[in-house]
Amino acid sequence: MKKIGLIGGMSWESSALYYRLINEGVRDRLGGLHSARCVMGSVDFAEIERMQTAGEWAAAGELLAREARSLEAAGAELIVLCTNTMHKVSGHIENAVGVPFLHLVDVTGEAILEAGLSKVLLLGTRFTMEEAFYRERMDANAVQTIVPNADGRATVNRVIYDELVLGVVSDESRQAFRGIIEDGVAEGAEGVILGCTEIELLIGEEDVSVPVFASTTLHAAAAVDFALAGGRRR
Ligand code: GLU
Repeated sequence: MKKIGLIGGMSWESSALYYRLINEGVRDRLGGLHSARCVMGSVDFAEIERMQTAGEWAAAGELLAREARSLEAAGAELIVLCTNTMHKVSGHIENAVGVPFLHLVDVTGEAILEAGLSKVLLLGTRFTMEEAFYRERMDANAVQTIVPNADGRATVNRVIYDELVLGVVSDESRQAFRGIIEDGVAEGAEGVILGCTEIELLIGEEDVSVPVFASTTLHAAAAVDFALAGGRRR
């Protein structure tokens, strides 16, 4: 089993979900007392959020690159960045390490294609929904993304930063997300990307009428696939 390196803390609410899903994945595949070999570098999200808001993306990329180098030095054989938004600076990380980087957008795009879909609604932070980095990478994966209208995007972004990253999960916000997703379906979305690692704490398959592509679940499963691809190590 290969050792997974996780760059977490963005937020730790979803990093905890990654940790659980990766360990459950290894247990389900190997059985018995098996659990994942992994190491996590967990950053202070307040510092990251300040850099996002200030537009200090290069500095944020360097900070995450340092975390990735630490994980590699700790024996990580794969780097997993546990946030959609910070994939905006994934190039900094990929350039910093010699081990593979498991790109969340590629993993999610592959799942959408495997499901036979090509046009999906993207929910995430305002950076993820409004900037080019995510949409263009999805385009390269032959997946077309649409986003909610300005009001919908503001609601999704607010719920992420004011509630979900703080561990607040409310029925009111779930209802609001359901409405935003159904509006997207009415505009032709065949599925929905939960393109923020905390959204699956709020919304699941049971809440909407179209297939759901939950980025944390898909990314964690892909990390387990990678870790176990090299065969069993007991
Ligand atoms: N976890 C979120 C994401 O997947 C938002 C936190 C962040 O801005 O990194 O985008």
